[in-house]
Amino acid sequence: MMRKYRKIRFSMLFYFILFSVITVACVWILQLVFLEGYYQNERVETMKKCATALKDSANGVDFAKNESLSKDSGVSVYLYDENKQVIYPDDVALTETENSIIVNTINDFLKNSEKEHFEISISGLKRERFAFVLVSRYNGDYLVLSSSGEKIVETLGVVRLQLALVTVIVLIIGIILAWYLSNKLSKPIDEISETAKKWADGDNSVTFNTTSNYYEMRELTDTLNFAKDGVSKSEILQRDLLANVSHDLKTPLTMIKAYAEMIKDISGENKSKREAHTQVIIDEADRLTMLVNDILNLAKLQSKVDAPEMKELNLSELTERVIARFEPYVETQGYKIENHVAPDLITMADEKKIEQVVYNLLGNSINYTGEDKTVKVYLSAKNDKILLEIIDSGKGITEENVEGIWERYYRFSETNTRPVKGTGLGLSIVKTILDAHNLKYGVRSKKDFGSNFYVEFERVKNE
Ligand code: ADP
Repeated sequence: MMRKYRKIRFSMLFYFILFSVITVACVWILQLVFLEGYYQNERVETMKKCATALKDSANGVDFAKNESLSKDSGVSVYLYDENKQVIYPDDVALTETENSIIVNTINDFLKNSEKEHFEISISGLKRERFAFVLVSRYNGDYLVLSSSGEKIVETLGVVRLQLALVTVIVLIIGIILAWYLSNKLSKPIDEISETAKKWADGDNSVTFNTTSNYYEMRELTDTLNFAKDGVSKSEILQRDLLANVSHDLKTPLTMIKAYAEMIKDISGENKSKREAHTQVIIDEADRLTMLVNDILNLAKLQSKVDAPEMKELNLSELTERVIARFEPYVETQGYKIENHVAPDLITMADEKKIEQVVYNLLGNSINYTGEDKTVKVYLSAKNDKILLEIIDSGKGITEENVEGIWERYYRFSETNTRPVKGTGLGLSIVKTILDAHNLKYGVRSKKDFGSNFYVEFERVKNE
């Protein structure tokens, strides 16, 4: 299903206008409904108060005074007799309609005889004197009060005008704000996608930048720059790797070809020469095999097809076994491996893979150790951990190189001077295996003081 994408600018505009309209509509409804109700109520209450005051005057209080008070509140006062004829004031001039409104109200009052007052309000006549009429008993006669809704109409008119103004202002401010904010938000995104397009087109020199002062935008550009650096680095590594692999594969092949030709043309008849030359071919073929094996091994490990098979493992025996594998170097080339392996330390791990780790680390130490040709291997228990340390006295690793040594890395030039043949993939294999085991590992090294490669295993207590 295709998703519809909208521009931030239009979404913002839409929601801001919606918000403004809803706010203004709420205010309109509240004002109109409540204000009108409030004023009507006020009119009726005033009339009721006047009626009560006037009725008191039946007991001797001054009617005229109360009437003038009523007038001040915008209320007109009439008296109607039993026959529904106006008897007060004398000079009243009521129209037919006005008179009939009063008579109808008196009739309604009579029908609701249990009520003290009876009032009506006629909304169509808000500006007329008879918008509100109230009838009550006055001795034997009827006291009739009337009032217009002029004030209500006026007030509502003013309120409406104000509301109309507020509506326009709110809408204009809403649109301006939406425009401003959406610009502020979408501009940095546009900038970033512009830079990303350049990058995608192959320009690696771009830097993600933003003119916006939003924290999130700054975070985003930082993250993108970080990702870009990572990708560039891995591109460089990939390129170096390919160059190094090709170089490493080519050199033995050239040697093999050269020696084969030599046997064919020169040394074929000479047994001892032929044997020496054949040996070179065999050694180079071994190197090739080792390199191809390491590449395949690493590829398999990194693609995670080859997950570690966790089993109980006697780390002490394993380490002793690996040390024994290096016995030939001790015997024939004067290397010394100091063995400080504590017995019977058990962990959970993949035996074959850990053996490869220890082998690679010990092989490196022998390769890189110093003049004294000594390597120390420690395996000791530390609370619920087992610590493996392989220490040499060589040149060590400079701080800036410490990170790099775990990457796929080739150093072909020194291969010939090293007793253990390396492919430059040893430590990446170690790293991949230990990461898959979730183990802590690292190297403590100081230039010219040798290196200490260590791995921390979880200890499984023997019963
Ligand atoms: P290599 O086949 O070159 O030894 P590794 O992956 O095993 O490949 O090691 C990568 C690099 O790390 C080595 O080329 C070397 O420069 C450095 N290195 C590894 N172990 C040591 C060590 N014990 N002392 C000094 N440098 C080391």
